Amino acid sequence: MNKIKMTNPIVEIDGDEMTRVIWEAIKDELINPFIELNTEYYDLSLKNRDLTNDQITIDSAMATKKHKVAVKCATITPNAQRVKEYDLKEMWKSPNGTIRAILDGTVFRKPIVVKGIEPFVRTWKKPITIARHAYGDIYKDVELIADGPGEAYLCFQSINGKEEKIMVHNFKDKGVLLGMHNLDSSIESFARSCFNYALEVKEDLWFGTKDTISKKYDHHFKDLFQEIFDNEYKEKFSDLGIEYFYTLIDDIVARIMRSEGGMIWACKNYDGDVMSDMVASAFGSLAMMTSVLASPEGFYEYEAAHGTVTKHYYQHLKGAKTSTNSMATIFAWSGALRKRGQMDNNLELVSFADKLESTAINTIEEGFMTKDLGLMSTLENVKILDTFEFLKAIRKNLNK
Ligand code: NAP
Ligand code: MG
Repeated sequence: MNKIKMTNPIVEIDGDEMTRVIWEAIKDELINPFIELNTEYYDLSLKNRDLTNDQITIDSAMATKKHKVAVKCATITPNAQRVKEYDLKEMWKSPNGTIRAILDGTVFRKPIVVKGIEPFVRTWKKPITIARHAYGDIYKDVELIADGPGEAYLCFQSINGKEEKIMVHNFKDKGVLLGMHNLDSSIESFARSCFNYALEVKEDLWFGTKDTISKKYDHHFKDLFQEIFDNEYKEKFSDLGIEYFYTLIDDIVARIMRSEGGMIWACKNYDGDVMSDMVASAFGSLAMMTSVLASPEGFYEYEAAHGTVTKHYYQHLKGAKTSTNSMATIFAWSGALRKRGQMDNNLELVSFADKLESTAINTIEEGFMTKDLGLMSTLENVKILDTFEFLKAIRKNLNK
């Protein structure tokens, strides 16, 4: 068989632990036999990040800007215990945070829907994609404990000398305080990433904030979205027959629960943090959640939403069987290959990505799956496979 050729490379960002193990296995079983894979490889294993003083993370993000498409394996974000375990020079920052800051992107998370794994919400038939703004609000706030009576103010000193000051509260007793901010440039990038993504996948875009209560802060998000939509996207949306819909966040929540799904739900930073966990668990499993970082300039980085599955890795090292579900990582690869194919007008590559996804889904729908799904499946003929047997089952179907 002739392997599919690639003109331009994908940036391949390798990672840690069990996901690093399945990364190799996915390439061996499902990609290398069919494609003459062309990647620019970056090893973001914690050891190598430490060795390069985290320069490798920055390099991988710069390479993504250059080649426009990347696929990333899950990586350890070190904490105190990891610093000890890996004897690190420093507690390096989250690679995802570093890459996101460089690409200025928005993260879109979408569940993989298969027959036999029914969403807990009965009406949901199609996947719901969460787009989370990844800058500011409470994630960059400053906080104070007011430890007795006193006056708290919010104050802005402009560099041109103007000062604005308003009272937050006149405390009669103890209490708490926080100050937070966001940036027009970041909100505008977020809006454009969302509008571009909606055009690309041809789905409606919903956005909600609490603008009735937060008349300046949240209202500003609403206004910037509307302005960008009206000036840059309105016609393109109507040409495709898709819609941009804004309403209050509580109204969105109520409507989402009664909907069939199939839309992109843009969320402010905190709302996205909370709602993506809700959507992921309601659709069944974190192992079935895909994730893509899309920037307004058209850079894409595909990954799985889950972590490095540490517990499984230590079982694997002991030689025990594991039950790591590789679906989200397979879809990260297929997503990146499809995008590469679309950018390079390589129809064979696009069609391979489609086949890889449909074959993986069919394999589960035929009853072959890892334990996480096996425990939830409503199919009658479930056959539970270990990490590597599951990949071999997909390979067998892909050969066909
Ligand atoms: P995790 O790796 O997502 O795993 C948590 C648990 O969820 C696992 O123990 C497993 O449950 C289940 N699970 C997750 N993915 C699965 C899969 N593909 N197949 C089957 N089960 C799966 O989260 P964590 O243990 O909190 O984090 C481990 C490391 O990952 C941390 O060092 C963290 O920094 C890193 N992390 C990285 C990313 C990223 O790179 N994007 C994201 C999150 C976390 P059972 O043990 O019950 O089977
Ligand atoms: Mg969270």
